[in-house]
Amino acid sequence: MNQDWRFGLARRLLLVLLGGLLLGLVTGYYGWSMALCLALYLTWLLAQLIRLHAWLKQHQPDEPPPESHGLWGEVFDALYQLQRHEQRSRSRLQAVIDRAQESTAALKDAVVVMDSHGNLEWRNPAAEQLLGLREQDAGQPVTNLVRHPAFKDYFDRGRYQDPLELPSPVNERLTLQITLTRFGNNEHLMVVRDITRLHRLEQMRKDFVANVSHELRTPLTVIAGYLETLLAHQQDINPRWLRPLRSMEQQSERMKHLLEDLLLLAKLEATSYPSHNEAVNVALMLGAIQRDAQSLSADKAHQISLEADAQLRLKGDEMELRSAFSNLVFNAVKYTQAGGQIRIVWWRDEHGAHLAVADNGPGIESKHLPRLTERFYRVDSSRASNTGGTGLGLAIVKHVLLRHQGRLDIQSKPGQGSQFSCHFPPGQIAADTGEPRRHAEECD
Ligand code: ADP
Repeated sequence: MNQDWRFGLARRLLLVLLGGLLLGLVTGYYGWSMALCLALYLTWLLAQLIRLHAWLKQHQPDEPPPESHGLWGEVFDALYQLQRHEQRSRSRLQAVIDRAQESTAALKDAVVVMDSHGNLEWRNPAAEQLLGLREQDAGQPVTNLVRHPAFKDYFDRGRYQDPLELPSPVNERLTLQITLTRFGNNEHLMVVRDITRLHRLEQMRKDFVANVSHELRTPLTVIAGYLETLLAHQQDINPRWLRPLRSMEQQSERMKHLLEDLLLLAKLEATSYPSHNEAVNVALMLGAIQRDAQSLSADKAHQISLEADAQLRLKGDEMELRSAFSNLVFNAVKYTQAGGQIRIVWWRDEHGAHLAVADNGPGIESKHLPRLTERFYRVDSSRASNTGGTGLGLAIVKHVLLRHQGRLDIQSKPGQGSQFSCHFPPGQIAADTGEPRRHAEECD
């Protein structure tokens, strides 16, 4: 085939030359004759080019190219093949796109694609039902279309490990779970699920725990009150009953703590932001916690030291923070052997504010560390029941930190003690009050 057009071209050129020569022989003007033949040949070439151009410009999708010979025929055919090939790949691609769109259109979950600026690029029909995103919204920032401060916050923060839960902007009774993923050149893919049923069940569980805790408080107060009265009149009691009564009082006290912790957890779970947002003087609070810890330690005579940046204040709820920090310090006292050392440090650096509570107690095996903040999870149930813990302390710490944008980090090795650190981002630090910077005195 390739050879064919080369022969054809050579033959045609030869014919032009021969024609020129013959005409020159007849007329005696070799130069003019040759020029005339070449001009005729060029005109033919130009005509082919014009035909090609006309076909490229105006042909119908399946219309074959014009008939031609030699090199031009080859060019026409090659172009036609190329075009057919491209058409076939385009329709294959279109079929894949159509199928992908059909399947996402059938999805009950909303799928939204955003460009690198967070503008709406594409969405499936479920996005209209769940988020109210319409076709004409394309090109607009999604944070303007899904108007919720928590969504804007979540989108801007850029940490998408955990999904976000929101009421639907279209129907307040629906609860949505939003998952964002980055792909390509900082584009975003958003998947939105309707989790109303799951949310309702979770709410029922929370309400149930909160209600049971609340309802148990009154009978417990009555029992504890009678026990207290009975023990206040020990002389009237048969001595055989003294021990069981004391044990009952101890257990009712423990149950009271348990109910208090359960109610606090229920309260922490009820909203995602603290109800108060004041500048909390953490150094002062830690001083008080240190004194309480020292009295809790009593005969065990732990050495409890405190180094705190007195000027460093944290935005948040004082009661919640006190509860979290005291849980960490009291745990250190509870689980560290008599005479052990406990170090409390409160400081700031470029990453934010940090609290570390370190002890040289028994330490914790690494397999337990990821589960420590689960409710009622204990490393050693016998050890915990001796200390009178509720098993809810670290769960409370985790929730309080979450509500203050912080996170808990636990470092521990058996036999080498433990360090529980709370890290807060710079945005959580309250503005300077202008007081001179000093360190709260160290105190053993
Ligand atoms: P608890 O009321 O049992 O103390 P927490 O949630 O406060 O419950 O703690 C969970 C478990 O973590 C505890 O049972 C204990 O085994 C372990 N733990 C917590 N703090 C320390 C510590 N400083 N040293 C050793 N173990 C600890």
